[in-house]
Amino acid sequence: MTLRIGCIADDFTGGTDVAAAFRRAGLRTALVFGVPDEATALPADCDAVVVALKSRSAPADEAVADSLTTQRWLWSKGAAQTYFKYCSTFDSTQRGNIGPVTDALTDAAGAAVTLHCPASPPNGRTVYQGHLFVHDRLLSDSPLRHHPLNPMSDSALVRLLSAQTRHQVALIDWATLRRGVEAVREAVAAHQKAGVRHIIADALTNEDLAVLGASTLELPVVAGAAGLAEGLGHAYPAAGAATAEPWPRAGRAAVLAGSCSARTLEQIAQFYAAGLPSLHLDVLAAATGRDVSGEALAWYDEQNPDLPVLIYASASPDELSAVQAQLGVAEAAAQVEELLGTLAAHLVERGVRRLLVAGGETSGAVTTALGVRAVLVGEEADPGVPWTYATTQHGDFALMLKSGNFGAPDLFTRALTETK
Ligand code: ADP
Repeated sequence: MTLRIGCIADDFTGGTDVAAAFRRAGLRTALVFGVPDEATALPADCDAVVVALKSRSAPADEAVADSLTTQRWLWSKGAAQTYFKYCSTFDSTQRGNIGPVTDALTDAAGAAVTLHCPASPPNGRTVYQGHLFVHDRLLSDSPLRHHPLNPMSDSALVRLLSAQTRHQVALIDWATLRRGVEAVREAVAAHQKAGVRHIIADALTNEDLAVLGASTLELPVVAGAAGLAEGLGHAYPAAGAATAEPWPRAGRAAVLAGSCSARTLEQIAQFYAAGLPSLHLDVLAAATGRDVSGEALAWYDEQNPDLPVLIYASASPDELSAVQAQLGVAEAAAQVEELLGTLAAHLVERGVRRLLVAGGETSGAVTTALGVRAVLVGEEADPGVPWTYATTQHGDFALMLKSGNFGAPDLFTRALTETK
């Protein structure tokens, strides 16, 4: 087996997003949660492996160390190329982590140069003359200017990245890109000769990203969002992953929701309006020691086994503030994650074979509780929301992990009532 591409994603839901992109390009793709070790087993014959880390907001030295450990593990599995996946808004602080992590990965690979492009045209993220746009505005004029963790007040990627590395940063502009693969390769070689380490590339469309992908197949380290990953994937000979999906046809279906994002609340309302059984978990009662998960399981046992069920802790903003005021933010989150993790393990033991989890942190808690370290990535139900397939001590099942704001309002009902 030759693993063509090993990808390191700097956050959990970014990992799912980029894995879906490789899968769309026809690569048989696995997704691994957290820094892997010798015991981390992979599905057979993968073309791409994505490891989802939580390094975006970690201190730079920790992000570098975890990324390097992961790169070595990917090499040990046969990965020829490393792709570092970060956010399409170049979400980072003044000092990192995009610069330090790409520098470390590039040094470790013994490479002179790496190419970056954070464009994600379907989401309105484009790069022109090295400036990152969000739809019709510069990043620095978009709402991301007010991001609570990393406010983005500059859109000039060469300048942003230069602040995060001691190496030289330069641009390959759209005019060069339009001249095709050979022109881009020549421009990469010319920058390398001039001592440039990081090349920012423009891209306005998926076709542009396909040109960049075909131009960078031989580079040991490439970096960007899911768009360039898909471009790279298309440049590899397609691998027929679509024919090999172990979709579980039998077994029950359930949603566990811990996200309080607006889109998840809509999805919950839509599920309820469709007349499907749903149960709200009382987080405050759980905090007083009541056996809320036992009660939820008793409720589950009484439901029609032919219908999907929804069990949720998700709360409206007012309800959430009230619970947090009483328990504290961290304790409230810990209660919810403990409840949903416990329920996930019991539901799978009781025969749930299709499980949809709503919420980034919630997904982390559920995969940990289920002992899921690696999954095979399947078809997307909505953009960036693929089904995945897990093999664990509890059996084989399909798992969908969605970030709070992802998916159409009818995702829960559509994904769980559709039979393939
Ligand atoms: P998203 O992807 O929407 O950000 P997450 O799962 O990452 O969703 O985050 C939601 C957070 O809200 C989790 O930490 C979860 O534990 C917490 N939470 C969910 N429901 C409640 C609730 N009823 N009371 C307090 N905290 C809650």
